[in-house]
Formats: sequence, C-alpha cells, structure tokens
Amino acid sequence: MSGAQEIEVDKDTGNPSKAWERIRVHQRYYRCDPFPPSTPIAEDKIRFVCISDTHGKIEGSKLHMPPGDVLLHAGDFTQKGHMNEIQKFNSYLGALPYKVKVVIAGNHDLTFDDNITEASLRTFGVQKSTVESYLSERGLKSVKQMLTSAIYLEDSLVTVCGIKIYGAPWQPVFCDWGFNLKRGEDILKKWQTIPADLDILMTHGPPVGHGDLTGGNNNVGCVELLNIVQKRVKPKFHVFGHIHEGYGVTSDGYTTFINASTCTRRYLPTNAPIVFDFIIPEGH
Ligand code: 5GP
Ligand code: MN
Ligand code: MN
Ligand code: MN
Repeated sequence: MSGAQEIEVDKDTGNPSKAWERIRVHQRYYRCDPFPPSTPIAEDKIRFVCISDTHGKIEGSKLHMPPGDVLLHAGDFTQKGHMNEIQKFNSYLGALPYKVKVVIAGNHDLTFDDNITEASLRTFGVQKSTVESYLSERGLKSVKQMLTSAIYLEDSLVTVCGIKIYGAPWQPVFCDWGFNLKRGEDILKKWQTIPADLDILMTHGPPVGHGDLTGGNNNVGCVELLNIVQKRVKPKFHVFGHIHEGYGVTSDGYTTFINASTCTRRYLPTNAPIVFDFIIPEGH
C-alpha cells in the first residue's frame, strides 16, 4: 500500500454545492438501476436489505420488506427518540425475518446522543427526567440497550459472515438536532476515526454529490465524508439516508452509494427498501 494520504479540510467545505461542482469534474459519477429485490439469492452470496429514515412510520405500514439475510437501517428510526418510539421500533425489528439487523442512529434519535444537553432535549419536547426514570425502573443505563432486536453501531464495527460493517450517526450541523458536528475540522476529525478496509460503511448523512440533493437543488452532503470514503476508507458500499429526497443508488466506479431513505420529504414511508448482494468471503 502507498503511504497514507494526508486528508485536509476542503476549502469549500461550507459550500458543498460549490465543492461538488469542482470535484465532480475529476471523477466518475453515475446513477445505478436499483437491484431487483425479486432476484433469487445465490448460494455464495449474502443479501443486504437497506432502509433508513423510517421515523416511526414503517411500523404498521404496508411497505413490502423483501427477502434477505441482513437488514441495515441508517438512522432516524424515530421522530424525537421518545421511549415509546424506541419500543415500537424494536418490536417491529424483532418481528422481521432477517438473521441480523444492524442499526445506527440519526439526528432525530435524540436520546441516543450522549452529549445532547437537557436544554436541547427540552426544546424538542423531550424531558430528560422522564427518560432517566424510564431507564432506571428497568435497570437500564442507556436507551441503546432498548434495541434488543438489533446490533447498534455508534463509531463501531461489526463483522457479519466475514463482511466488515462500520456505523456512525454524525452529520453536518442542521437545526441543532442530535449527532450534529460542524463542517470542516470537527467532522473531519470524526471521520478520521473510521477504519480503512471496510466492506460496508453506514452513516446517517450522505457524502457530497451522492444522494445529497435537496428539493431546492442544493448538494448538502459532507465534503469531508466523500474525501475520507474515496481516499482512505474505500468501502464497497456506503449506506446512508437523512436527505430523504436523495433516495436512490449512485456510484463513483468503485463504491456504490445507497441513499436508503424510506420516508419521503413529507415523511410518508413509501420508498422501497434497497437491496444488494455481497459475495461471502472465503472460509465463511
Ligand atoms: P431529517 O429532519 O429527517 O433529518 O431531514 C429531513 C429533511 O430535512 C431532508 O430530507 C432535507 O430536506 C432537510 N435537511 C436535512 N438536513 C439538511 C441540511 O443540512 N441542509 C438542508 N438544506 N436541508 C436539510
Ligand atoms: Mn430523516
Ligand atoms: Mn476494502
Ligand atoms: Mn436525518
């Protein structure tokens, strides 16, 4: 391997549309057809089913969940991180037939953010005391222990069938929600902690240029995240959500970028789960 490349803050980090306009000239970018979920699963492959941004709406919805082995959820499974929302989501996951379910949090899953202040929670109508008494009555230390039906990743890695999956909930500051980090140095530092040699990266927010176009036609993805993904981490798949309008699949010729947002901009859970197959590594 060649020497590690120093990755610095992009000069246009605060203006992702401008950054992308400059960057895209030098790289491949194309939209991909969604993989048909009805394709039979080959014996040497493991099927991943991706959803995100379900916001408490997938439970009880008519959304068809296709067959597969591993479910990936890229955050925003609640509206505010209330206890009843987490419970409901966990029961929903528990009833799904996938062998493994991997979940990260998003900016809406407020109570999962260990650093969120009591005042911040209050502005969203979440009382810290209510959360604390709920947890202590059940002998729990954190809401994260409520997700008994899933593997919860937060700046951490799990290996499934020899396939390395890493998950991180962070996104650039937007309206003072959970897991917000400032564009530039702050968020770059966080992304620097993602290990290289991953197969699948899950983040809540998109990188710039891929699945990050808002209704106003602005790219709002993270410039630093694209740099880290392309120059160091190089996952085969990058799964995220957050920008609901950016739902779909794109590629840079190496990494497949999946914006799996289940909910539309109007928070209707109507976008189909996105599936992909991964060849099971030898010896697994
Ligand atoms: P959520 O509130 O579920 O995290 O995001 C919902 C919607 O808010 C997105 O689909 C997008 O329209 C908008 N949004 C989220 N983050 C940003 C951002 O950083 N910039 C802009 N302009 N819109 C955002
Ligand atoms: Mn969302
Ligand atoms: Mn690799
Ligand atoms: Mn979000």
